[in-house]
Amino acid sequence: MKPTLVLTDTHTHLYSEEFENDRTEMIKRAIETGVSRFFVPSIDSTYTQKMYDLETEFPSNIFLMMGLHPCYVKPESYQLELAHVEKSLAEKKFYAVGEIGIDLFWDKTTLKIQQEAFKFQIQLAKKHKLAINIHCRDAFDEVFEVLESEKSTDLFGIFHCFTGDFQQAQHAIDLGMKLGIGGVATFKNGKIDQFLNEIDLKHIVLETDSPYLAPVPFRGKRNESSYTKLVAEKLAQIYNLSIDEIAQITTENSRQVFGI
Ligand SMILES: [Zn+2]
Repeated sequence: MKPTLVLTDTHTHLYSEEFENDRTEMIKRAIETGVSRFFVPSIDSTYTQKMYDLETEFPSNIFLMMGLHPCYVKPESYQLELAHVEKSLAEKKFYAVGEIGIDLFWDKTTLKIQQEAFKFQIQLAKKHKLAINIHCRDAFDEVFEVLESEKSTDLFGIFHCFTGDFQQAQHAIDLGMKLGIGGVATFKNGKIDQFLNEIDLKHIVLETDSPYLAPVPFRGKRNESSYTKLVAEKLAQIYNLSIDEIAQITTENSRQVFGI
């Protein structure tokens, strides 16, 4: 008998307003497609209760992360938000600290406090022996600078929505990171597909970043976790493997990161 497909979406914002009208159906649709493990990154404290509700609804499928997203690091609120992250991690089981990092696409003026928040949250991850889930946009040098300063055997995690070049991929891997590959790998101008086959599959995990960055043929539309399968199909082409092999290997990689 053919084993059933177990795909893991390592980064999906299931609580997003975009899913307000069909959230439960959308999650069930993904599970039927073979995407049965969802890792949900946190953005800020306003979504925490929604995340807990989702975990209660799908306790064997949904695994939560806790963290403050770099775009939500604001001078007037970031200290309170970081206190919420610290408190939540102390009170409850999470599977990673994320999504955390640096984003200079939307706002360069907060770089200093973004760096501070990133470093603080990496230290929280180490304290709780958790993975980190990195958000990096227009900020590779800045992200690597913080990671280098925190480099150690207990630093590990995922470089989410990895869009760098081959050298940056190698650098991320050297720092204990796996590469989160999603819809961008299916884009004609995505570039990542051009060198991915030179990266050992043991460093790769799948993600959607739903509701953003839908893969081809849904590019520009709402993304959802069932499309993880489209990313797996693209990787099957790139690595010349079956989709079952891609599913099995990338899910195993995700288990190494999240411990479940
Ligand atoms: Zn995200």
